[in-house]
Amino acid sequence: MKNIFQSFYGRLSLIFLFLLLVLGTVQIVFTAHTWSNYYREADQRLNLNLAADMAREIEPLLQDSAAIGSIGNTIHYIMVLNPKIEIYVLDEQGKILAFFADPNKKVKSKYVNLKPVQTFLGDHFTIPILGDDPRHPGTQKPFSAASLKIGKKLNGYLYVILGGEQYDSAFDTIRENYITKTLAGGLLVTLFFTGLIGLILFFWLTRPLRRMKEVVQKFEQGQFQQRVKLKGKDEMGKLGATFNSMAQTIVYNMEQLKEADQQRRQLIANISHDLRTPLASICGYSETIQIKDNTLSKEERQKYLQVIHDTASKMEELVEQLLDLSKLDARQVKPQMEPFSIKDLIYDVLMKFKPQADKSGIKIEIDVPDGLPQVYADIGLIERVLSNLVDNALRYTPSGGSVTIGAIQNNDQIEIKVRDTGSGIPQKDIPHIFDRFFRIEKSRGTITGGTGLGLAIVKKILEIHNSSIFVNSAVNAGSTFLFNLAVWAQKA
Ligand code: ADP
Repeated sequence: MKNIFQSFYGRLSLIFLFLLLVLGTVQIVFTAHTWSNYYREADQRLNLNLAADMAREIEPLLQDSAAIGSIGNTIHYIMVLNPKIEIYVLDEQGKILAFFADPNKKVKSKYVNLKPVQTFLGDHFTIPILGDDPRHPGTQKPFSAASLKIGKKLNGYLYVILGGEQYDSAFDTIRENYITKTLAGGLLVTLFFTGLIGLILFFWLTRPLRRMKEVVQKFEQGQFQQRVKLKGKDEMGKLGATFNSMAQTIVYNMEQLKEADQQRRQLIANISHDLRTPLASICGYSETIQIKDNTLSKEERQKYLQVIHDTASKMEELVEQLLDLSKLDARQVKPQMEPFSIKDLIYDVLMKFKPQADKSGIKIEIDVPDGLPQVYADIGLIERVLSNLVDNALRYTPSGGSVTIGAIQNNDQIEIKVRDTGSGIPQKDIPHIFDRFFRIEKSRGTITGGTGLGLAIVKKILEIHNSSIFVNSAVNAGSTFLFNLAVWAQKA
């Protein structure tokens, strides 16, 4: 039983059946009431002149005396002919002077309200008019009435209750039987079929909800591949489609979270690794200096101190790059956009790296046509991008190779390229080189190579400029990194 109340279908069905019952009962009461009104009206219409006819019979008997007993026989005769009536003789005030009915039954009222009687005797009235039933004070019944002259002076009324007590009880029994049999029987049949059809209909209508509940429950239990199969375009169909798309989003977000978590672990592992190696190196060399303090030559001491300094600088660089990257990740870095000459910037970067290139025996040059329009970007951040790319190009190009920084206009964009003739990048690694701490040569760490963060920073900086970085590379043939910047659209 509890389950029925808990299920939507159960509650719907119970409410429906309850409503059917209430409506059925209302229908019975209403029909019974209408029916009884119908009989009252019919009765009153049929007997409109009954009292008047009787009064005509009785009046001559009452001409000479007001002795009401003298009309007893006539009345008795009338009542034998028409047993369903009760006859009252009323005076001008409505006081009951005499009544003719079953003597065993008591007449409880002494007066009858004359208002309905006068309405009845007037010209305008609508049937049925109900008057007091002296046997049942407070009860109203259809009647027939007529003015009656009693004796010489007294003007009274003949008041005939139609459907007297005896008649009523017989009639009620028949009526009740009839109502019970017809209405209640009909109601039961209607209730049964309407109820049955309703229950089947509700069961059918709520079936998609039940199916959806099953799917949602399975999904909640971890079966994330579960989806609702509802085709309709109604609310249920839309609800199902909404659930499916919500499930898709949840699964996608979960995967993203898993991936982010994986990346976070990887990042921590990489940072720990990249910091441990240089720290161990610094500890080792400083210990050596301490232990062998007396035996070390000046040159050796200088050499060890230089190693400690270089390693500490690399660590500083790593920590700085990590900080920069986290700021870029958190979108804390807002690019200070301004127009500037890309050619000038490329030239500055070239000059910065020239000594390093010369030292490594690499030719470094620029390839930028004259008359390029200005670009609109953050000059400091773009300088960082170019520096990282040129730094890499120099690092991965052997002596005798060349590095070229070029720029050309492409509609409203300036395409900037950093090309080298170095080691190149294997195809399988290309998708990963922009991941933080990714290195093609896994053995190389912060001491021997870069931080592994340079390209990740490049990618982030270009993202906040709504741009992207691309790479073309072939092993031993060199690499070309390229990106676009928007041309400064000068307002007229
Ligand atoms: P790193 O500090 O190690 O250079 P980056 O993020 O700058 O880190 O680069 C990631 C990896 O991509 C490098 O370790 C290197 O293996 C590869 N790479 C980057 N630039 C080049 C290039 N111009 N030529 C060959 N390999 C490159």
